[in-house]
Amino acid sequence: MIPRTLYSEDHEIFRDAVAKFFEKEVVPYHDQWERDGQVPKEFWRKAGQAGILCCDMPEEYGGGGADFKMAAIVNEEQARLGISGPNFAVHSDIVAPYVLHFGSEDQKKTWLPKMASGECVGAIAMTEPGTGSDLQGVKTRAVMEGNQYVINGSKTFISNGQNCGFVIVVAKTDPDKGAHGTSLFIVEEDREGFARGRNLEKIGLHAQDTSELFFEDVRVPPENMLGQEGQGFVQLMQELPRERLLIAIGGISNAEAALQWTIDYTRERQAFGKAISQFQNTRFKLAEMKADLSVARVYLDHCIELLNTGDLDVESAAIAKLTASELQCRVLDECLQLFGGYGYMREYPIARAWADARVQRIYGGTSEIMKELIARTL
Ligand SMILES: Cc1cc2nc3c(=O)[nH]c(=O)nc-3n(C[C@H](O)[C@H](O)[C@H](O)COP(=O)(O)OP(=O)(O)OC[C@H]3O[C@@H](n4cnc5c(N)ncnc54)[C@H](O)[C@@H]3O)c2cc1C
Repeated sequence: MIPRTLYSEDHEIFRDAVAKFFEKEVVPYHDQWERDGQVPKEFWRKAGQAGILCCDMPEEYGGGGADFKMAAIVNEEQARLGISGPNFAVHSDIVAPYVLHFGSEDQKKTWLPKMASGECVGAIAMTEPGTGSDLQGVKTRAVMEGNQYVINGSKTFISNGQNCGFVIVVAKTDPDKGAHGTSLFIVEEDREGFARGRNLEKIGLHAQDTSELFFEDVRVPPENMLGQEGQGFVQLMQELPRERLLIAIGGISNAEAALQWTIDYTRERQAFGKAISQFQNTRFKLAEMKADLSVARVYLDHCIELLNTGDLDVESAAIAKLTASELQCRVLDECLQLFGGYGYMREYPIARAWADARVQRIYGGTSEIMKELIARTL
């Protein structure tokens, strides 16, 4: 096997601590959280105390001061255990970087330490009932009235929507200016006019809260804008490669774990007087998956290195997201098949992982949008 070379001994020590934290603080409770439809807020503080949140944010803002590889490790370990409930990726690896990269000093000092400690959960609201892939079609408006922006609109499918203490909202400040008329705003949960809708029922990711959010005459001062007016679209384009890489990281780690669960299961399960792992079909399926995952792993690790040095481009991230999420879904489906009827039972991790994985080809930009992005570079 081609060895993984991107992680140092320090990274592996951190991985060990992260895995132990997940085994102790998440695995025993995850079934209940799935029944509840969300992770309790108190848990986020535990994660903060354990140094799992915002580990690559600078120490001056309460973060771990580590590199992106540490953040990748948190995502890898969570995906490996199939514990999809806590949406740390949106909080630590998507929302916090927006604040770090585009926020004012005040915004960074206000939000990042609270995010790192788990006191405040972050969310980002781009998608609306009428538009998802086409972000330029966002209808939420932010209009300057007096010395405040007044925000009106609604968002849907927002991860951490029930638990969030603030949300980054994508809104149009000037609808006539196309991409240059979009801006980002921080909206705190206690702003008048902000309301959470229901916690949406999904086919997977049952312990993750995903919500509609409503903004009715929500007034925010100009200091709540993230970066400059009209820069929202550029900011999204800058940050989306990171989001897409994170989806790929979770996808491949989860599929690798599923392959191992399946190897173990097929060695145990007997049919026609022998272990089902001895049938040529089983061996060939497992071998194909191993081969595909090995190739994907090398590309992905290279992308992690590139993001770590700030060099991951839009096209490479789109390739990572497209190939990893499609492969994850294929692998999980083939693994489930090898579990037979047990693979369809939610008490088996493969069943949950299969349902959880389906959205990977949809959120963060669908597979079709990834192909568009790649095609544009041809
Ligand atoms: C569980 C979950 C969590 C989510 N979390 C968040 C979140 O935290 N924040 C947030 O803002 N959003 C979130 N989303 C929304 C997600 O990003 C969108 O669902 C996604 O971008 C697709 O948008 P849409 O659902 O409007 O589909 P549409 O854009 O309506 O697409 C429908 C179909 O048309 C295809 N299509 C669209 N345009 C093209 C094109 N140009 N060429 C070819 N095919 C095309 C799509 O690929 C898709 O197959 C989440 C979604 C889910 C399900």
